Amino acid sequence: MELRHYLHTLFEPAALALIVDDAPPAWVRQLGADLANARVPASVLRLDGTALSGTGGPGIELALVAVAAPQVAAALALARRLGASAVTLLTDGADPADAPQWAALAERLGLRLLGPGTLGFVRPSIGLNAGRTGAMPAAGQVALVSQSGVLNGAVLDWVADYSVGFSLVVSLGAEAGVDLAQVLDYLSSDAQTRSVVVYLEAVTDARRFMSALRALALVKPVIVLKGHRDDRAPRRSLTHSGAVCSADALYSAALRRAGAVQIGLFTQMFTAARILASGPGPLGTRLAVIANGHGPAALAADQAGFQALRLPDLAEVTLAALARTLPGRALANPLNLGVDATPEHFAQSLVAVAADPGIDGVLVMLAPHGGLDAEGITRRVAEVAGGLHKPLFACWMGDRAMRPLAHVLDACGVPVYPVPEAAIDAWATVARFHQNQRLLQQTPRPLSGGQAPDLAGARALIAAALAAGQTVLDERQSKALLQAFRIGVTRTLLARTLTQALEAARTLGFPLVMKVSAAGIVHKSEVGGVVLNVRSEAEVREQYPRILRAVADAQPQIAIDGITLQPMRQGRHARELYVGVFRDPLFGPVMAFGAGGTRVELLRDTTLEFPPLNGFLAGRMIERTRVADTLADFQGAPAIDPQPLQALLVAVSEMVCELPWIAQMDINPVIADEHGLVAVDARVVLDGSVGAAPPRHAHLAIMPYPSHLTRGYQAPGGRTCTLRAIQAEDADRLQAFIRALSAESRYYRFLSVLAELPQRMLIRYTQIDYDRELALVAVQGAGEDERIVGVVRYLLNPDRVSCEFAVAIADDWQGERLGATLMRAIVDAARLKGLQRIEGYVLATNSRMLGLMSFLGFTRVTDPQDPTLRRVWLDLTAG
Ligand code: ADP
Ligand code: MG
Repeated sequence: MELRHYLHTLFEPAALALIVDDAPPAWVRQLGADLANARVPASVLRLDGTALSGTGGPGIELALVAVAAPQVAAALALARRLGASAVTLLTDGADPADAPQWAALAERLGLRLLGPGTLGFVRPSIGLNAGRTGAMPAAGQVALVSQSGVLNGAVLDWVADYSVGFSLVVSLGAEAGVDLAQVLDYLSSDAQTRSVVVYLEAVTDARRFMSALRALALVKPVIVLKGHRDDRAPRRSLTHSGAVCSADALYSAALRRAGAVQIGLFTQMFTAARILASGPGPLGTRLAVIANGHGPAALAADQAGFQALRLPDLAEVTLAALARTLPGRALANPLNLGVDATPEHFAQSLVAVAADPGIDGVLVMLAPHGGLDAEGITRRVAEVAGGLHKPLFACWMGDRAMRPLAHVLDACGVPVYPVPEAAIDAWATVARFHQNQRLLQQTPRPLSGGQAPDLAGARALIAAALAAGQTVLDERQSKALLQAFRIGVTRTLLARTLTQALEAARTLGFPLVMKVSAAGIVHKSEVGGVVLNVRSEAEVREQYPRILRAVADAQPQIAIDGITLQPMRQGRHARELYVGVFRDPLFGPVMAFGAGGTRVELLRDTTLEFPPLNGFLAGRMIERTRVADTLADFQGAPAIDPQPLQALLVAVSEMVCELPWIAQMDINPVIADEHGLVAVDARVVLDGSVGAAPPRHAHLAIMPYPSHLTRGYQAPGGRTCTLRAIQAEDADRLQAFIRALSAESRYYRFLSVLAELPQRMLIRYTQIDYDRELALVAVQGAGEDERIVGVVRYLLNPDRVSCEFAVAIADDWQGERLGATLMRAIVDAARLKGLQRIEGYVLATNSRMLGLMSFLGFTRVTDPQDPTLRRVWLDLTAG
């Protein structure tokens, strides 16, 4: 059921009032005057409720509060009396310490609060400039959301000369009430918004942010500029991973995983806005460049190279077409038309290149010189632009002479830039969005389905260590934990005496490695605690006391358990890799991968990713590092099979998902050679404060696929089906299910006669995050023949303690008690998540459903706003 979003009354109110005090500053008086231009009824009211302008009128949904700080509470109370449900708190110079208290008051009054500390928002489609962002921009499809209000003004001013239109411009302020995640959520359902540009500094709830951003990026391009990028001072840490996870790297990883595109420069914010405003962006990265000189073409090609964009060779047909237009000229990509290029050369080359099947978009460049028919060229390019069927963007280099011409292109929807770097960057940003989409669409399972891990063994090991007051596991305990997840380790024996050491050496054979065993030592080799390549019993005798002495000299206060012995993994072809885990206070567990050994921090070749991982995400993670290059045929060393390495990363991700006690972990190094992968050193740091049985997966920023919800169902008549959580791959099956529903069933479910789901809704319904939203399907058959016969879902309400459900059953499965089974399953899942209430709407004429609801114990009331609907709800906290 698509009801209005709960922020609708904030951003698109039916009527609004500006509340002012007796001495409004100039900007408030100006705002009051400007509101007269809004295409919604707007009044200006004093705190006593008397109208200074406007009707004072009824139906007010939004109050703009611009009174001095001491009067804010009174203004909020007035807003409530007026019937408003949303407030934008524009009050000047508010003390940040007041924000929580105002937010609490607003919540008590049932008001959604934007601010304080906000410059307000702009909704051009209704002519509403609610605050002091700056001049009203044109209406359009780009939304701009910012944690810095003044940056919005700067962006709007910058693009004011160009035809960039906006659907919404929001300054978030202190986010005491409405926050970034909620605005992103609003934008994903806002029909006016086609793409979103965000200026981000920090978030306070990583899971909610990731969830809202992922849902938005699924349906619209999202471009993010992250401010405050200076890395926190490297943390002092018990492992390598703690040192390599800077806050900035974490945000970048989060944005990438959420499917957004991160840009690095403020200027890219509006170059990107401009290309987004021009309509459908590039769907691929293959670019053709046309220019009137080799210098501009070379600059563009260079920048494309920096951005990892491809400038592919042109197809034979394209070259043939170009040869007719440009006889005797060298034909390549970039295509240099030369200084004597005519308007016709430009037009015909453009048409030919844009038709090339291997090209996703075209950049056309013009640099001014004496005798150039710049006007003619601009006119012809503008004429053909509309008929190209591929994104075209332009770089009219220069300013004074070129600016008026650039506007000609701009006016027919071609984004145009004054410098090649900006043009290429904007293109790359949008193209990268489409690449990141593939990351976003991954929904890894918590357990990969390989050989099942020994979860009980792993938990027992952790429980025993914590019970003994131990939070740092030594090398042997850490390796035992890895083994429980089927990760290969070197067999490691502990010796407390020289005699035991010699015995162990005989068991293992030579050559071997001797290491000090002491949980208190972070890096054993730093204190002389590691001796490699021990070849004989004589060497064992010699090294045993030496290691003990060296460590005792370096760290006299540390307790030593003894010496471990393990086989030496040797060979010229060994590559040392690093796999780490770190738990960030905000984002939860993060995984790191990169070049390993004793110099991880120095090499700075580490990439981050959030669990859960699947093979695809693990593969992308490996590819992002430089050490990946050494895994292929490298300086005579044979290539290493990437598959086991992906499997290892997935196994570590499973550890992290299933063992919330892991605070940090280093597997360093994993030695990879032609014989496979083996972890020769590991170190796990535990967090005992997690408790014995925390809620499953509550520590993760991204929920894994809830495979524990999968189970079978047998109907009373004997037919069987499987209940499981929905997944991205169900899109076609869901569409088939909806199409096959009878018109009546469809109407009962969606309150509309739609015959099938539009693509956007199909994505939203199947690619869910299992946190904010859960959908269970009942499927019949298997493989190709698998067919959805029932769907039930809940979506969390903004209060995050209640949720709304919807359910539909295939017509041929009515009367099989499948509805009751699905409903019970979703109610159980909601209860397990700790929700307090589940509610929904049922048409008054849908007697079958109403009967089911009574049977399940739901309370029923007639909807006061719509007598054709019944509201049904169940208290989940009772029994
Ligand atoms: P540290 O606590 O200093 O990280 P490690 O156990 O990782 O100690 O040993 C340091 C280095 O010694 C490793 O980075 C690796 O290069 C090498 N090494 C350790 N164990 C083995 C082994 N079994 N086979 C081969 N090399 C090893
Ligand atoms: Mg090590």
